[in-house]
Amino acid sequence: MAPSENPRWQSTEREWAQRTETVGGQKLIGAQGKQDQESADAAPRIPRFVSRREWKAEDPAQTDTVNFWPEWGGIAIHYEGPGKELKPQHTPDNKPPHFDDCYYQVRRIQHEHMHPLPIIGGEKYWDIAYNYLVCHHGYTFVGRGLGFQPGANGSQYNNQRYYAICGLIGADDPAPPQAMLDEIKAVADWVRAYDQAGANIKGRHVKGHRDLFDTKCPGQLYPYIGKGTFD
Ligand SMILES: [Zn+2]
Ligand SMILES: [Zn+2]
Repeated sequence: MAPSENPRWQSTEREWAQRTETVGGQKLIGAQGKQDQESADAAPRIPRFVSRREWKAEDPAQTDTVNFWPEWGGIAIHYEGPGKELKPQHTPDNKPPHFDDCYYQVRRIQHEHMHPLPIIGGEKYWDIAYNYLVCHHGYTFVGRGLGFQPGANGSQYNNQRYYAICGLIGADDPAPPQAMLDEIKAVADWVRAYDQAGANIKGRHVKGHRDLFDTKCPGQLYPYIGKGTFD
């Protein structure tokens, strides 16, 4: 099925619409304002989505919404890894993306995933491998989005059961900023609320990539999983 014929693909546009309603302009907290933070548990705030259209994503070569059962897994947290430092800029909406900003970074990640250089021999993916990517400014770039099987978790078994959320932080960066932690929590709440992520799992359903696969990922985000920051 071509992506344009896939009705679930609209979910990313719905997310974008909600973001525009509640976050549009300069308002960054949520529709109810600051005082709502106390009752944030009752109604998780909507993540500050940057739509695929906005970051100028390439269309996926393929998608899979059938073989994905996050209620029997949960959420896997990733980081960007060695040599991928935090980007200083987050160019505002409607401005052309800057070479050194988060938009450019996300486009580069998608390009590396979909068109790996043969000489390096990376794995070729049908789309950016993550469902969501969270920058240190506190924005969520929609990757494969809600309800789509990711490709980042290291095995087919885990890709069929875990959302892949990537913090855009490198191995040599300092501890993740609070804005990134808060936003990862918001995305985790989002996939729990709208796709039952981890609903059938007893015990912790938020995992680090390294809990599923032999890797250092998610680096300095890992301790926060143990602390329950994203639960
Ligand atoms: Zn990872
Ligand atoms: Zn950013």
